[in-house]
Amino acid sequence: MSRFEDQVAIITGGALGIGGATARKLACEGAKVFIADFNDAAAAENVERIKQAGGTAAASHIDVSISEDIARMVNEAADLYGRLDILVQNAFGVMAGESKIHGTALTVEEDDWNYGIDVLLKALYLGPKQAIPHMRASGGGNIINLASVHSFLQEPGMLVYEAAKAGVVGMTRQMATDFGPDGIRVNAIAPGHIVGEGLAKMWEDNPTGHAFFTNQYPLRRTGLPEDIANGIAFLCSDDASFITGHTLAIDGGLSIQLQERFGTRQAEYIRANPDTRLP
Ligand code: NAD
Repeated sequence: MSRFEDQVAIITGGALGIGGATARKLACEGAKVFIADFNDAAAAENVERIKQAGGTAAASHIDVSISEDIARMVNEAADLYGRLDILVQNAFGVMAGESKIHGTALTVEEDDWNYGIDVLLKALYLGPKQAIPHMRASGGGNIINLASVHSFLQEPGMLVYEAAKAGVVGMTRQMATDFGPDGIRVNAIAPGHIVGEGLAKMWEDNPTGHAFFTNQYPLRRTGLPEDIANGIAFLCSDDASFITGHTLAIDGGLSIQLQERFGTRQAEYIRANPDTRLP
């Protein structure tokens, strides 16, 4: 029996990258998946890929920075499939202008702060606000929030991203406390460097940069979207039925090291000395 037979899952940002792999993983294990993404072409392609593999999927044009879109997303999925069991809150990424939120308290513009917090944090409160009544009606459910190693490791110039991703960890614990009595588990995943379609292109043009990242990891590789999709599927499954409020690092061991290794000084050093491995 498939782990998610008869269950319905919404995946925000489910067209590409981590979300894309998660949609395929949950569908391949029996879930009916609803891809909520503003990249229509990539979303349609992923739906087709899932259907070709024998799964059930649909997509809708959703921008999670818009609260009306989040309400529509939940209503459309519940209307289409008749219930809701899983909400994976993942949307955001390198291909969607995240670089504009880079900077410090001195340089980040207020509008960019607001956009980053809307997409990375506020959307993750609005999603459950809409989804939880449906999950209660289904007798419970699972919410997975995408945090990051940046939830607890700092790199210069990452103010908005790190503030939001630290907030994701707190919000996950709070919602797990608030909705555990309803049979709703709320967990987060903190990925390390995960090379999806967008980053793969970038690293193709900059193999030295990728080698730098690889060398930061005890396992001496960066991650794949499937590494995260596997963790999400585990946390949503009955194998994890006593786990809630947890943030699971899936990062090849990056965050168990001294934070020093993660900082810009090392990055600069290694870029200047590509053949040198720090101890
Ligand atoms: P990605 O760029 O590969 O894919 C992101 C997907 O989200 C795309 O399909 C994009 O169209 C969609 N999207 C972006 N903004 C959206 C919006 N406002 N509304 C709807 N859809 C939107 O990104 P990814 O690398 O797979 O990252 C996914 C999540 O994982 C993000 O929350 C990111 O912060 C987190 N994360 C990624 C990494 C990494 O190294 N890739 C590391 C830590 C955390």
